[in-house]
Amino acid sequence: MHQHRTGEWLPPSPPHASHPRALLCQRPNGPNWKRASTPVSCPYGIDHPQSLPCEAAANDAAGASFCRYPTNRTRAARDPLPPSDLDLSALLARACDAVRSEIGMGRVASYIPALARTDPNKFGAAIVTADGRVASYGDAKEPFSIQSISKVFTLTLALERIGHKLWQRVGREPSGNAFNSIVQLERERGIPRNPLINAGALVVCDVLLAQRSAEATSAAILEFVGGVADDQSVCIDPEVAQSEAETGYRNASLANFMKSFGNLEHSVSDVLRVYFHQCAIAMNCVQLARAGLFLATDGTDPLSGTKIVSAHRARRINSIMLMCGHYDASGDFAFRVGTPGKSGVGGGILAIVPDRASIAVWSPALTPSGNSHAGTAALEQIVRDAKWSVF
Ligand code: GLN
Repeated sequence: MHQHRTGEWLPPSPPHASHPRALLCQRPNGPNWKRASTPVSCPYGIDHPQSLPCEAAANDAAGASFCRYPTNRTRAARDPLPPSDLDLSALLARACDAVRSEIGMGRVASYIPALARTDPNKFGAAIVTADGRVASYGDAKEPFSIQSISKVFTLTLALERIGHKLWQRVGREPSGNAFNSIVQLERERGIPRNPLINAGALVVCDVLLAQRSAEATSAAILEFVGGVADDQSVCIDPEVAQSEAETGYRNASLANFMKSFGNLEHSVSDVLRVYFHQCAIAMNCVQLARAGLFLATDGTDPLSGTKIVSAHRARRINSIMLMCGHYDASGDFAFRVGTPGKSGVGGGILAIVPDRASIAVWSPALTPSGNSHAGTAALEQIVRDAKWSVF
């Protein structure tokens, strides 16, 4: 894939040191962040670690007060972290070898011409654990188009920007429809079912635009993704972005339709520009697994100590991934793999194993629902072998 750090219309990136990091929040507990074991007393009856202050004043969508730092007690008791001598690389290699015969089954997405040229026989996988171990397999270091996986990162940013107000403009129910379906939108008066289908992601782009230019918004998204990946070399593939813009009639219809219902504040063309550029972000499996790690560790990057989102918010993002991350095949993914996950038509899948690991797989040949065939099979095997299902 031909790559540049920025698309034609994106400003050149400033040098690393001067990148604005505001979207990555503060580091409340310093680089050696650890969970303290002493619980503090919380008016809402939650045992949370001393290092994490109670934020009991927060309100949820229904107006009820709750503590943002719910206990880790239940999950910790049920699911201890894997022993440190777990041979992660061997586990990954065994699981991936077991599904090799599935590689190439299905079809590479052809409706975006720049993706149609991808080799269907590529296969990569990477695991990054909560304690910082990394295992990789096959083409794990080769960048691919993350496509709809980017919706997880833009959802994170939109929730940080406007919080629960997002749910007035987009739902949080599984759609049971294809990723680019328009049928529900009319019945539901321009409110998309969830933020992980195309219509929902377009509303999220509108939220992120926030009176900025499309260029500045895309730069901020890229900045965030590079930040959580801990790798500022993550880039947008301009060829893919261009190809999507040239053929994105369905997305343009969705955006125009929502605009007609008053659910987009910015111009359709700006919303689409941001959307096509986020879909065209290119990453490899190692970068992608690293970028998802904060969702496995209660919203704080365990390796840098950077708080990305609250624990409460990370859990909610995971729940949306579990219910909606694979479009009309979300139930099947939960059934077979059993973790939150998000797929993209580039053939990538990001799977989150709470408290344990973030996993990225890539295999471009897709099922009819637009999800990686061999990638799903590999995740099913990895999660089964490691006993990492959330159920
Ligand atoms: N860019 C693609 C589209 O809008 C993303 C779809 C996907 O990955 N499911 O159609």
